[in-house]
Amino acid sequence: MIHTIDLHYHAGQERKDDVPLEPYLQHARLTGRKILGLTDHLGKYLNAQKPGRHYAASVEGLRDYRADMDANKDAFPDLTLFFAPEIGPKEDLAAIPDPVIDSSDFFIGEVAFPGEDRAENTEAFVTRMAALRDFSDATGREIFVAHPFRAAVNLRLIKRDAESWVYTMNPRWNGGFSIEELNTFFLLDLEVLADAATTHRLPLEINGNTQFRIRSSNLPAPLQMLWAAYAELKQRGVEFVPGSDQHNFQGGVGRIGGAVPADCFHALGIDAEDIHFLIRIATSPMQP
Ligand SMILES: [Zn+2]
Repeated sequence: MIHTIDLHYHAGQERKDDVPLEPYLQHARLTGRKILGLTDHLGKYLNAQKPGRHYAASVEGLRDYRADMDANKDAFPDLTLFFAPEIGPKEDLAAIPDPVIDSSDFFIGEVAFPGEDRAENTEAFVTRMAALRDFSDATGREIFVAHPFRAAVNLRLIKRDAESWVYTMNPRWNGGFSIEELNTFFLLDLEVLADAATTHRLPLEINGNTQFRIRSSNLPAPLQMLWAAYAELKQRGVEFVPGSDQHNFQGGVGRIGGAVPADCFHALGIDAEDIHFLIRIATSPMQP
């Protein structure tokens, strides 16, 4: 079942103060997760402006996080744990130190999104995808593309008020969005994206936090468009991975965190056995 697979689970420097890794793994277990990609933003270790909260802000600190994960494995035999740093869109891939690569089972790669110009966004996206493919080939580490629609959702709904055409869109419970409508809303050319994703053999993430943000708008149509965009990509042969992108799980009243968007996977007709990325990481060099 897809909700048991969460390949984007933040549990490093962004943990709450004084909370060790163990409760984060306990939360994963309590919420039905079985396969985890433990992550942290790589920038919190390389060229960090602030000292680390739980580990040193250095390559050594990252290795300590990895060691912390390994030390917890015996206590969580029901969890399959992978170590998967998240690489920012501007990180110089060629400058990522070898010890970082050696400590990592796979990587999560963010892509750049300059802003309002669809052609520019698409170009930045596919250029980064090519670079991520080269990085994966050079390091022998699998990589997937993090939250491909995050920046567009932020721009349309989160970081400023929705424009009236977005606000007044009628829900379409049975889909029926044209690719042009989707490209306009997400400020990306989905055909070009799909082509690059298949050419460079890079899965795109179906990210829980993006779905949480889009649901926060309380507008049904944007979520329907997001699912429609994924359906377009799927039809064009793109591979996906599930990730909650949860950063924490303690809300005002208790256990509130992030979720793998299992409903979206279900709507797309994708189940756990369709996540081929899992098979590839299970045979990666770091695994015994
Ligand atoms: Zn993340």
